[in-house]
Amino acid sequence: MSRGGEIDKPRIAAAVREILLAIGEDPDREGLQRTPSRIADAYEELFAGLREDPRHHLNATFDEGHKEMVVLRDIPFASLCEHHLLPFTGFAHVGYIPRGRIVGLSKLARLVEGYARRPQVQERLTSEIADALLEELNPDGCGVIIDAVHTCMTIRGVEKPGASMVTSAMRGGFRNRPETRAEFIAIVRGGRT
Ligand SMILES: [Zn+2]
Repeated sequence: MSRGGEIDKPRIAAAVREILLAIGEDPDREGLQRTPSRIADAYEELFAGLREDPRHHLNATFDEGHKEMVVLRDIPFASLCEHHLLPFTGFAHVGYIPRGRIVGLSKLARLVEGYARRPQVQERLTSEIADALLEELNPDGCGVIIDAVHTCMTIRGVEKPGASMVTSAMRGGFRNRPETRAEFIAIVRGGRT
């Protein structure tokens, strides 16, 4: 499923040139001449998730008969908040209890990246990853915890450098069974159960 079609880089570059003019800069001075096209290239990469369905990363599963918790911890990601188009960066922790069929760990990282590379809010990013796992893998349960720093909060506005936001989304057994949720949180924190 593609939502956006091809990205229109000339249109981005023209808009950035307008922004430079609007802030009182000279877009034709040497240092800024290539800025509009550089930003267009960067946005193509940072918003690449709009032109893919991240769920396709979960298509390739294999049957290992494994029915215990699997956790991929400290998946680094970068996203842009949809309110300011400023970066928020941090780590995602993803866990699930398979019903036999498992997915490659690199695919979990790709899933996070696919949803991160869109204009986002952290809360939606968290639940989109959890819902994709639940619906595509049909696990006994799954959970996602994201810990991120929002530059729209650390470099402007209330300017609170160091503050991080933590969100979680628990599904199935991770939501219903307190001991399962606790095991997941202990693993994410670095504990061994
Ligand atoms: Zn923001």
